[in-house]
Amino acid sequence: MITVEQALEIILSEINVMGQERVAIPFSLHRVLAEDVVSGRDNPLWDNSAMDGYAVIAEDTKGASRDNPVTFTVTEDLPAGYVARNSLKRGEAIRIMTGAPMPDSADAVIMVEDTEKLQGQGVKIFKEAIAGDNIRKAGEDFKKGNTLLKRGSVIRPIEIGIMAAIGKSFVNVYQKPKVAVLATGDELVEIDEPLEKGKIANSNSYIISAQIKECGAEPLQMRIARDRKDDLIEKLKYASAADCIVSSGGVSVGDFDLVKDMLKEMGTEMRFWKVAMKPGKPLAFGVIGGKPTFGLPGNPISSLVVFEQFVRPALLKMMGRKAVLRRIVSAVLMEDIKKKPDRTHFVRGVLTTKGDKYYAEPLEGQGSGMLCSFVSANCLIILPKEETQFKKGDRVKAQLIDNSFLYQ
Ligand code: AMP
Ligand code: MG
Repeated sequence: MITVEQALEIILSEINVMGQERVAIPFSLHRVLAEDVVSGRDNPLWDNSAMDGYAVIAEDTKGASRDNPVTFTVTEDLPAGYVARNSLKRGEAIRIMTGAPMPDSADAVIMVEDTEKLQGQGVKIFKEAIAGDNIRKAGEDFKKGNTLLKRGSVIRPIEIGIMAAIGKSFVNVYQKPKVAVLATGDELVEIDEPLEKGKIANSNSYIISAQIKECGAEPLQMRIARDRKDDLIEKLKYASAADCIVSSGGVSVGDFDLVKDMLKEMGTEMRFWKVAMKPGKPLAFGVIGGKPTFGLPGNPISSLVVFEQFVRPALLKMMGRKAVLRRIVSAVLMEDIKKKPDRTHFVRGVLTTKGDKYYAEPLEGQGSGMLCSFVSANCLIILPKEETQFKKGDRVKAQLIDNSFLYQ
């Protein structure tokens, strides 16, 4: 059986980045840039005031202090968005607001706190200025021709702001994959159907679709496929129109676990079937017509954990992301754990910080069909395959699976 690390390597080696599309910048949040963004202009475009105050010729302020103010004649009031009508002459000042372009021949701004307005046209200045004081120089942020954003970077609010600042209203990003979600099993009913004895609600399709959305991709939730060859083939054929197929159930060793065989029958090149992990050993991965196909296990938590470890990185790679793995931190284990040396375990846990350390506490209820313990989990404690004994106080790896942890 292959290891988690091997499985991830095989999967990522099969994944290609999607094509590109052009979107308006407000819709580009969290997408990945498919082009370098080069500035067509300087920013700022002209020298402008960094303060509300008085634009002056620095030399005229020589020796100014609280005890020895220098008086200037104010010739103009200059709000942001306007250009001074006059250039400054010696002994003159222009009242200037933050962001207004520097008047010709002015070379410093005295902030308003260091001045006192006089009756009529005068102002007293209490501070000596050096040329360049409180001026934002043209091009100090960036210049025409600078590459401001690199292809492959994730678009956050600041990237959108930069594109807006240079007047770029559309941008090329990588496409979002459409991902077919197919639950399989005779025991499943849709969530609004009555539950007769022996039946269970199809929760997996909803979890998986939400996980796909969380990655930024587009789920296409299909109707349940029954454990029959003809129904599976029909639904899988339909699903193969998507960019990626994610099914759940039907990949273990039971007589009705037909998914893997039907995938093969449809021409899927199977790459592997089982991974040494718990939860989630049965994971069928293959490629059909260049499209990745994941047969996830049926148990909801197995499916969720397998998605986190393998499908999420694959979808992120398809969308052009470079960093596709969840953050892993080193944490102090808060309870003893024993396990067999056969599989990597992913234990639902609560990660907290105290001082400069992370602490990881395993949760009660680790069964792969038990949904509830995942509600309080914000991490998966990763216990390496070969190791068997983990003592309270040991260092373990904790994978941050809950984005909200970042905001706590
Ligand atoms: P399987 O891998 O098909 O043998 O499924 C294992 C178990 O996972 C089933 O007995 C169900 O209890 C559960 N299961 C399978 N598919 C789903 C689903 N779509 N939603 C919720 N539970 C499921
Ligand atoms: Mg089944």
